[in-house]
Amino acid sequence: MKIFNTLTRQKEEFIPIEEGKVRMYVCGPTVYNLIHIGNARPMIVFDTFRRYMEYKGYKVNYVSNFTDVDDKIIKKAIEEGVDAEEISGRYIAECKKDMEGMNIMPATVHPLATQEIDGMIAMIQTLVEKGYAYAAKDGTVYYRTGKFASYGKLSHKNLDDLQAGHRDIQVTGELKEDPFDFVLWKPKKEGEPAWDSPWGQGRPGWHIECSVMSKKYLGETIDIHAGGEDLIFPHHENEIAQSEAASGKEFSRYWMHNGFLNINNQKMSKSLGNFFTVREIAEKYDLQVLRFFMLSAHYRSPLNFSADLMEAAKNGLERICTAAEQLERLKSASTKEEMQEQEEALYAQSAQFQDKFEAAMEDDCNTADAVSAVFELVKFINMHVSAECSKEYLQKLYDRLDNLCGILGIHIHKEEQMLDAEIESLIEERQNARKNKDFARADQIREELLQKGILLKDTREGVTWKRA
Ligand code: AMP
Ligand code: ZN
Repeated sequence: MKIFNTLTRQKEEFIPIEEGKVRMYVCGPTVYNLIHIGNARPMIVFDTFRRYMEYKGYKVNYVSNFTDVDDKIIKKAIEEGVDAEEISGRYIAECKKDMEGMNIMPATVHPLATQEIDGMIAMIQTLVEKGYAYAAKDGTVYYRTGKFASYGKLSHKNLDDLQAGHRDIQVTGELKEDPFDFVLWKPKKEGEPAWDSPWGQGRPGWHIECSVMSKKYLGETIDIHAGGEDLIFPHHENEIAQSEAASGKEFSRYWMHNGFLNINNQKMSKSLGNFFTVREIAEKYDLQVLRFFMLSAHYRSPLNFSADLMEAAKNGLERICTAAEQLERLKSASTKEEMQEQEEALYAQSAQFQDKFEAAMEDDCNTADAVSAVFELVKFINMHVSAECSKEYLQKLYDRLDNLCGILGIHIHKEEQMLDAEIESLIEERQNARKNKDFARADQIREELLQKGILLKDTREGVTWKRA
């Protein structure tokens, strides 16, 4: 499989550190509000990448953090007059609900920054001992970027050029040695959460948490580190500087970054206020549609969000589900069990769409082309199934479609909720059957409703029902 590696700016063959295993870290959200659909993009694309790796037989150790200590969380806690923990706890729970709705598999581990403070202090101490970090008078600990020779290698920036362009930010009286030195530990401010450390009470900077959690759960060198492209600089550049200076080893072999989800060609972000939360989208659409919309583009391309594109994704998804329903319907009505010779040949032909799908995913997780292969399979199904087909043939085509959609994280089998009107009309039919002493039919209807999770109760006033 080929992956575009931000580090080398090339597509490279993926070779894992350990055969058959993938160690992957994806930077997660800062939890101070409901997530927006821009935040959902890395979740969806890297979950799909993970599913494909698992389909190929890799055991994927997938770690994704929640940043639960941060200025924005503290600000929100102060506004509401509650603890920071209450804010982060609330939005982690909400984020998990959204993830479930988008069918994102839970990570192997979802570490929380606040639970990993000891590890962060230990790594900062190592950096200080090795001369890569220093404590300023006020208790802030900074990373000494000038000492890390390959600083800038991920973002392809040159520190000298950067400094030349930013002389103006070298404010006199600044506690840093260099404007590009970044914070590893900041001293406590009144009313903020704080932990004891060799530099006094305080809290960690943002970058150190990912270096530490990645090391703890995946080891000093990992296979893949991923996130949105806004994280390349400074966040990921700083993670490399911290981890590689501390361990003396390569931090991550491959770096994957998703493009932005835009709105009117501008990055969707909380600060610009041009966002839709996943929750808002869920009011109008099944979140599968959002997932399908995201996967219809290549993960590295910018993607512009629009109502038209969401409608197109909805229609596309419906086309797939309709083909799946057709297969199920024909299969239950079919009287032939086993595949006929001609069907064997057709089924073998349909393997070309699976091959196309795989070839697309092998090429840097090209979900846009993988989705096209699914549509081609759907077209093939629509052309080559009829009431004459055997159950085995129909089932095999169904399984092929289901398998490919499963890698994309899309369910094709709709757990259809019965409408109230449908339930009421079945109840009426049951009452009539009873009046006509057709108890077998009446029982059959009760059973049918039960299977769909509808419980009936016969009362003196009539029949009442509820959903289980
Ligand atoms: P944040 O909570 O801002 O740190 O973002 C969490 C993740 O969402 C990071 O991987 C970001 O790069 C990503 N992200 C935020 N906004 C967007 C966007 N508009 N498009 C794509 N990814 C984004
Ligand atoms: Zn991170």
